[in-house]
Amino acid sequence: MTSEYTVQGHPISELAERFGTPLYLYDGDVLRDVYLSLRERLDPRVDILYSAKANPNVSVCAVLRSLGAGIEVSSLVELVTARRAGAAPEDVIFLGPGKSAEELRACVDQGVHAIVCESFDELEQVNDLRVPGGARVMLRVNPSFESKGARLAMGGKPRQFGMDQDVLLRSRSFLKSLRHVEIIGVHGYMGTRILDAEDVVHNTRGILAAAEELSVELAFDLRTVDVGGGLGVPYFENEKDLDVDLLAAGVNSAVAGFLDRQGDCRVITELGRYLVGWCGTYVVRARYVKESMGEWFVVADGGTNHHMAAVGIGSFVKRNFPVRSLTRYAEPAFRPYNITGPLCTPNDVVAKQVALPEVHAGDLIGVERSGAYGPTASPGLFLGHGFPAEVLVLDGTPHLVRRRDTVEDLLGKQELIPT
Ligand SMILES: *Cc1c(COP(=O)(O)O)cnc(C)c1O
Repeated sequence: MTSEYTVQGHPISELAERFGTPLYLYDGDVLRDVYLSLRERLDPRVDILYSAKANPNVSVCAVLRSLGAGIEVSSLVELVTARRAGAAPEDVIFLGPGKSAEELRACVDQGVHAIVCESFDELEQVNDLRVPGGARVMLRVNPSFESKGARLAMGGKPRQFGMDQDVLLRSRSFLKSLRHVEIIGVHGYMGTRILDAEDVVHNTRGILAAAEELSVELAFDLRTVDVGGGLGVPYFENEKDLDVDLLAAGVNSAVAGFLDRQGDCRVITELGRYLVGWCGTYVVRARYVKESMGEWFVVADGGTNHHMAAVGIGSFVKRNFPVRSLTRYAEPAFRPYNITGPLCTPNDVVAKQVALPEVHAGDLIGVERSGAYGPTASPGLFLGHGFPAEVLVLDGTPHLVRRRDTVEDLLGKQELIPT
């Protein structure tokens, strides 16, 4: 009897054999289901933009694009990725606190829907580009109200992001002096990993209200409002799924009231983690299993070098992502194990004291709900292990969407000087 994990009918052992480990595995069915179940609940007048930084793989972006999502980008490479994934410029916005001149120029040349400006200096830089008719910008506001529910707050307190609401309200004459800037709206993003629907609704209402106030006080037409998002995925024990029905009902009612007053203003929500977190599994192979002073360790071929989030920086107690034996998926727990990686640091612990079926060398272990902030948010170059392969199973077919780094990928950029 086999109890191994399968993705769309493909046994994990075959996928691991074919593509090697460590491996990020994305299930296209899950990716699609998460997006569509949110899409069908949200008011169709709310555009969903995918925040590429959560998983910037071009094929992942392309799947979401094909379902109708726009893309929110924060670097030149992400902008190029979005275009290659098929996003039309009008469905792309560019944000980030430290855009380069080259990035601003690229936004203008490509005609993105808006540059989300985060400082007065940046507005001047955009103005200096002297775009005929004015470059389209949105003002990123750091609102006066406090964000609720975010594990990591990005607004409502002193932050490098955006411009404080009360300062913006006093800058009408400055904004009027920018002859080559066309202000089309307001952007707000309060923070990430929100799991309570009411908090998302609270933030949405707050940003819509701030946008209306700013458009009146600063005398510009509100043509686009981006209400952020920050929807979370439960990773740890005691965390509950977001209630999407409740969230959609609250957001839809806030948006409906807003649009009654604001006509055909475009409303955007931008989501990263929520859209891609569920679909991904980080797959590692157990190399050695050993006991040390009463605790059992599984030393795997990949660790926190590809999954930095599992380290759990910022919390005092180590909390585990959902970890499963993929080889013995249906078997009952046998004993607690520490799952560690190949790095020579005691911090390279993917999961601590997690109950698993008996683990044998060669078994495959999976860290689930890991499709967001994986390899690209991890120290993949540490100890020269390089980045893992990434595989997307779409409509029953596994595709290698990023090949693993080779020795030459890693060493090719170094120069050996004569000594
Ligand atoms: C990181 C970020 C996002 C995406 O955040 P998630 O929590 O992954 O949805 C969206 N907007 C801004 C401004 C961000 O910085």
